[in-house]
Amino acid sequence: MVDFDSLPADAPPQERALHVLETVFGYSSFRGHQGEIVQHVAGGGDALVLMPTGGGKSLCYQVPALLRQGTGVVISPLIALMQDQVDALDEVGVRAAFLNSTQSFDEAMQIERRLRQGDLDLLYVAPERLMTPRCLDLLESARISLFAIDEAHCVSQWGHDFRPEYIKLSVLHERFPQVPRIALTATADQQTREEIIHRLQLEDARQFVSSFDRPNIRYQIVEKANGRKQLLDFIKSEHPEDAGIVYCLSRKKVEETADFLRSEGINALAYHAGMDYAQRTANQARFLREDKIVMVATIAFGMGIDKPDVRFVCHLDLPKSVEGYYQETGRAGRDGLPADAWMAYGLQDVVQQRRMIDESDADETFKRVLGTKLNAMLALCETLHCRRVHLLDYFGEKSAPCGNCDTCLTPPVSFDATVEVQKLLSTVYRVEQRFAPGHVIEVLRGIDGERVKQWRHDQLSVFGVGSDRGEAEWRAILRQVIALGLLTVDADNYSALKLTEAARPVLRGEQAVQLRRYQKPEKAKRSSQRSSFVETDLSTEEQALFEKLRWWRVETARAHNVPAYVIFHDATMREIAKARPQSLDDLRHVTGVGEKKLETYGAQIIALIAEMQAAQSS
Ligand code: ADP
Ligand code: ZN
Repeated sequence: MVDFDSLPADAPPQERALHVLETVFGYSSFRGHQGEIVQHVAGGGDALVLMPTGGGKSLCYQVPALLRQGTGVVISPLIALMQDQVDALDEVGVRAAFLNSTQSFDEAMQIERRLRQGDLDLLYVAPERLMTPRCLDLLESARISLFAIDEAHCVSQWGHDFRPEYIKLSVLHERFPQVPRIALTATADQQTREEIIHRLQLEDARQFVSSFDRPNIRYQIVEKANGRKQLLDFIKSEHPEDAGIVYCLSRKKVEETADFLRSEGINALAYHAGMDYAQRTANQARFLREDKIVMVATIAFGMGIDKPDVRFVCHLDLPKSVEGYYQETGRAGRDGLPADAWMAYGLQDVVQQRRMIDESDADETFKRVLGTKLNAMLALCETLHCRRVHLLDYFGEKSAPCGNCDTCLTPPVSFDATVEVQKLLSTVYRVEQRFAPGHVIEVLRGIDGERVKQWRHDQLSVFGVGSDRGEAEWRAILRQVIALGLLTVDADNYSALKLTEAARPVLRGEQAVQLRRYQKPEKAKRSSQRSSFVETDLSTEEQALFEKLRWWRVETARAHNVPAYVIFHDATMREIAKARPQSLDDLRHVTGVGEKKLETYGAQIIALIAEMQAAQSS
């Protein structure tokens, strides 16, 4: 399908690959390892590709599929997204189709025919479909250029998305030994990686491990006071016009939060596994297709969502692990433009998560794993240092302070909290380790409420020893003390606080404790220092053109029945608004404009710019 005529017949492989990248996808250079991976797979080699979300995995198999003879088969568990993927390829002139259970028999027959005739560059198949004898026979009767195994971590039983069908994919190697295979995932840990290699028989594959840094994402974790209100302030001040995702732990909270945001004038939708299928899918489709929608969801939402212009991901509850947090926040800013990962976190989160682990019916070993993962997450929340350094270090990558996270931008102040912590631990001890956080804090602060009096806790020597600090401050201290493991919350006993072994040396004065100083949650304000590495500021005139292009895109997307970003990304339209191309040749140089799009939309864009300029000069 690609037109190689303009290249000399003996052009070296790199040049052919770049030619495809430029003419089909409209990009001028490969990113990171992409170029090497494309060379390797186009040359017939097997590959294991580890790249963060938004790193650009798709091109790693799409370009080789276009360089090699035959059809590239992409195995993906995400049936719901295949239509959009195929539509996007169609827009750039690549012949693509999918086979899955959503199709009628006739549709499937037609695609099978196209495959046998060599009329497809790429074919997306669900793993359970691929494993049917009929499908394997079909593939044998066609010419296959490569197999791409997307979301390859689904073979891992350790991972979070295990799919039993994936284990059987080793059959590909047995039945098609000549066809190169490329497995791709955004899950970084060593254990998953080893399991992918083992299960898919990729022992001889070359491994390409990218940096997991997402420099355009700004990480921010704030103290939770009134989470919903803080969220609203954040959205209103930082992202009033943007698409974003808000994660909550429970279905109920998802519904309540979406209702609340809607009542405040924000275009919010809900998504969780308890909703009926039709409603859930309709909401997902709207999120993908329309601009400026905020999706409030449980973590059931998001796998494989490749909407490039999600500008923020918020967490209203603490995620269970750093892996989960990183995967969820990674859905922001896939287009490389500045994006935010924002989380509100407080004492209640720590108590709740610890309780959930205690109360689960997992065996002791697994509970310990869950506890370790939670501790790592807490350490990230409480760190006094760069969040990004901490995150990357968790994935085994060393880095330097980033300048684009909250702790870098407004360094937290630590203080020697030994005395405060001693007061707190003593109070827990004096109330016989039988009371929940709220009560302990009342005693500390010397509040003689009814319950305190009833238990005669106003008679204790510790009553009021912490009256110099407010409730929010004590909660912040208590939260950190629990995170440090000096106190635990007893789930079986009304969330009573209990001392741990680790508390002893602190109580005896043998060990000092440094804590983060409490900072009153401020109303979020638009920060003056938006990330500087991507040019985002448009002049008034450029902005006007950009808005005009946006309108044009909405209408065009509707007419073609595809998501807006499939027509052009925001980044491409910003570049057009800045460069104001006057001819098709000028437009060709804009990132994201390939030959097919130039042909389809070029004239309309040039006309739109001319019209605007005429209006401005008259
Ligand atoms: P992943 O699957 O790794 O999450 P994608 O393949 O969806 O990432 O790519 C993320 C975004 O980056 C897409 O919008 C894609 O068009 C863009 N992209 C990928 N490679 C390049 C490149 N070499 N130049 C410019 N943009 C790219
Ligand atoms: Zn930082």
